Amino acid sequence: MAKKLAAKTDEMFVAVQQDCQEVDAFMAELEASLQQTRLIFGADEDAGEQRKVEAGKMDVDWDAVYEQASERDFSECPICIMPLYEGKQALMLLSCGHVFHGVCIGNFERFDTQLYTHCCPCCRQHYQKLELPHN
Ligand SMILES: [Zn+2]
Ligand SMILES: [Zn+2]
Repeated sequence: MAKKLAAKTDEMFVAVQQDCQEVDAFMAELEASLQQTRLIFGADEDAGEQRKVEAGKMDVDWDAVYEQASERDFSECPICIMPLYEGKQALMLLSCGHVFHGVCIGNFERFDTQLYTHCCPCCRQHYQKLELPHN
């Protein structure tokens, strides 16, 4: 009787295993088609960009960025359209060359739906930011 039961259990085990394999195969197929979709929509590229930004490995030549920013007229914060250099507000220089109040870009990031890869509200580039020292 016990032996018969054991055999039955084995049978069940094999059946379950087979089921698992089928599920695995299904998942693999699903993953493959997902990958296809990602390729089509270029999401993989975005993911790579995201990792790069998160790791902070993007080399930014801040001197060049600052120079570029200085050449532009950046006396106003593009978010609140208030003067940048009045008062003692912290300023943020983005690697794309745009300058914002630290508070304004901070709020923008908090409300941005993209949690990790923010795009500059002016030029839609991914950015790193640097707090500008007050003169
Ligand atoms: Zn502002
Ligand atoms: Zn920008």
